[in-house]
Amino acid sequence: MSRTVYINGSYLPEEDAKVSIFDRGFLMADAIYEVTAVIDGKMIEFDGHLERMRRSLRELDIAYDPNKEEMLAIHRELIARNHLVHGGVYIQITRGNPGDRDFLYAEGESIPPTIVLFTQERPDPRHSKLDKGWAVMTMEDLRWKRRDIKTVQLLYPSIAKTTAKRLGFDDTWMIEDGTITEGTSNNAYIIKDGVIITRHLSNDILHGITRASLLKYAQSRQMKIEERPFTLDEALAAEEAFVTSASTYVMPVVSIDGQDIGTGKPGEHTLALRQMYIEESVKVAI
Ligand code: PMP
Repeated sequence: MSRTVYINGSYLPEEDAKVSIFDRGFLMADAIYEVTAVIDGKMIEFDGHLERMRRSLRELDIAYDPNKEEMLAIHRELIARNHLVHGGVYIQITRGNPGDRDFLYAEGESIPPTIVLFTQERPDPRHSKLDKGWAVMTMEDLRWKRRDIKTVQLLYPSIAKTTAKRLGFDDTWMIEDGTITEGTSNNAYIIKDGVIITRHLSNDILHGITRASLLKYAQSRQMKIEERPFTLDEALAAEEAFVTSASTYVMPVVSIDGQDIGTGKPGEHTLALRQMYIEESVKVAI
């Protein structure tokens, strides 16, 4: 059945929603996006995603400041119209359509942004089978250096994920200057001597909304956290590994480049963290 999607103020059947070929999102990947998870028809971490969206827009100098109530209403309307129970809401905001292709873009509010939202269904994460976890491979991180901005420039992560799938893996961890940056669409963690180790925030990685809350919840339960880069060798010698994102929540990583991590099964800390994250965030979902 066709979804109802949102485009620039209208709710339309997905086949009727059209964007110009001159839109800078299409021609230049000049656009930002967010994905907000939905469980039981309610949004997880809506405020965090909205705040990061504002930051991405500011960093790219796109003259649009989303209004919270309006954004919340659009997200909710799409969830309702599509009867979405579990899954996510995708939003993309582009610099708009200047009417022709040009490397130069005007500053300020000369053209309206293009705003598109749609829903995607996924299974209830509380019922997912996690007995296998993810097998990841590694590749050099060949992305641009502003990975803290959530742009739709996703070609390299998409190549890296597809390469992984073709070779029988579930995802790729990217490596730069000898340390892991992150997964193709998730933040990467290892656990060593009971300590959670994950790369510190910088322009090298996306500042995951799931990451921020997970670390907060882990800290409140007296778990030790080290925010620093870690090497592939450290990861291979770790007891556990996992990734986080709004789509996977907390996903165990059981092997890297074909080598088992710990027992080669989802780790007990990882599974506890997943349960804790989902439970806590469902409590405050809106
Ligand atoms: N890193 C990258 C590169 C991502 O694309 C994502 C998900 N969009 C994440 C990390 C995780 O971020 P979040 O927890 O906010 O989904």
